[in-house]
Amino acid sequence: MSVLVPSGSRWYLSARLQHVLVLNASYEPLNVCTVRRAHVLVYKGKAEVVERLDQPLRSATGSFIWPHVIRLLHYVRVPRAIQRKISRRALFARDGWRCVYCGTSSGRLTLDHVVPRSRGGESVWENVVTACAPCNLRKGDRTLEQAGMVLHAQPRPPAPVLFIKLAAPRIPQGWTPYLPVTT
Ligand SMILES: [Zn+2]
Repeated sequence: MSVLVPSGSRWYLSARLQHVLVLNASYEPLNVCTVRRAHVLVYKGKAEVVERLDQPLRSATGSFIWPHVIRLLHYVRVPRAIQRKISRRALFARDGWRCVYCGTSSGRLTLDHVVPRSRGGESVWENVVTACAPCNLRKGDRTLEQAGMVLHAQPRPPAPVLFIKLAAPRIPQGWTPYLPVTT
């Protein structure tokens, strides 16, 4: 199965460089994939290599280009319905690792449903926020109005770039021209 993509020790030289940035046909950043996956997409004619690393990837069967940024040839719509699953890590990152109610970044962070689940609040990006444990406890099973608390920002689904940054905490230099400056 490894005809396309070499395996071996060179492969693991730098975990960071194994990540490939995937752009939509519109050049918007979509996500991050492995070099192996990038090779498959390019081989199948689904993507083109936009940036490559200087050094080739070598294996017993030959040498291969090392994709760094690829672009899908057909535009992919990302419907709201299949937006990324909520994880605590992504949620806390979206909210800047701070409690949305009091702004603290110290102590234990928790996931809070703005409209409590017991009141029909859904587990969707628009209804979950990062809260410190004391604020979460204070709010309890009440609505914002009942608890007399305010949200400092309206919760929204995070942009794809957030997941890109979570997948590759150290953004390679070659990616920066393709990523928006903020978040
Ligand atoms: Zn708080």
